[in-house]
Amino acid sequence: MSALLKTCYLNGAFQDIENTTISVLDRGFIFGDAVYEVIPVFQGVAFHLDLHLKRLAASMEAIRISPPCNDEKWQQIVEELIGLNGKGDQSIYLQVTRGVAPRDHAIPQNMTPTVFLFSAEIGAADVQPIAAITAEDIRWQRCDIKATSLLANVLLRSRAIDDLAVESILFRDDVLTEGAASNVFIVIDNVIYTSRETSHILAGITRRLLIDLLTGTSFEVVERDIPLSLLSEVSEMWITSSSKDLVPVTMLDGQKIGNGEVGKVFQHVANAFQSYKTQWLEAQTQE
Ligand code: PMP
Repeated sequence: MSALLKTCYLNGAFQDIENTTISVLDRGFIFGDAVYEVIPVFQGVAFHLDLHLKRLAASMEAIRISPPCNDEKWQQIVEELIGLNGKGDQSIYLQVTRGVAPRDHAIPQNMTPTVFLFSAEIGAADVQPIAAITAEDIRWQRCDIKATSLLANVLLRSRAIDDLAVESILFRDDVLTEGAASNVFIVIDNVIYTSRETSHILAGITRRLLIDLLTGTSFEVVERDIPLSLLSEVSEMWITSSSKDLVPVTMLDGQKIGNGEVGKVFQHVANAFQSYKTQWLEAQTQE
């Protein structure tokens, strides 16, 4: 994790993260009863904040948390936090827990959600290729909810690190879902594929932006089930996430993918994504 920036936000107050505490009875702490977003900020502008707020609203609705504020208020909090942490490039972590109550699995009535945001440094997009491993997707059935209860993801990502890799590429019933903390794209015969958007994957914002960007170009993306048996035909693979953009995967389970180098399709697509980002940011700062 990158270095934390000084100021965070908890339940209405901006304060020093070193001195910020929550109740031990917070259901986020006791049950992982909470949802979150990670929002990249470039040159002081939160990248596609609207899409993150939309997904946050969907996650809250799915776990029956009434929204503690509207989008205008979220935007105000996020912008103030960015300003207090020196604008520039940073990564905002936003978490909403169900709130504080005596421990009981059943959802208590009339809860006041805990709202917590902090900010961390974000480095320049890292396009160093990575190694990954395949692993069985042992997570629950609602991976579309961006919940903080991430124990399976924690174990799966750590298994990759144990194997001197960076990410676990997950298969449920021998069908590719996503990475432990990312979405996955593959290339076979110059066609790009990614998993269908089901409740077994997180509808990644980077994934969606990339698909939309490529739609109608010569590199259109096909969203479909990708069986494990297709892996031997894959010539390129990359993962996507808001904090890392697009990262090429050149080794899988200790074997080279394609010729083991960063592929041409990746280079084209990653350049297109960087240009899109630059143009988007220019448009925002000119408004
Ligand atoms: N899937 C999972 C499981 C994730 O944790 C993430 C984000 N870290 C993603 C996909 C990518 O989503 P996004 O592009 O919205 O960051």
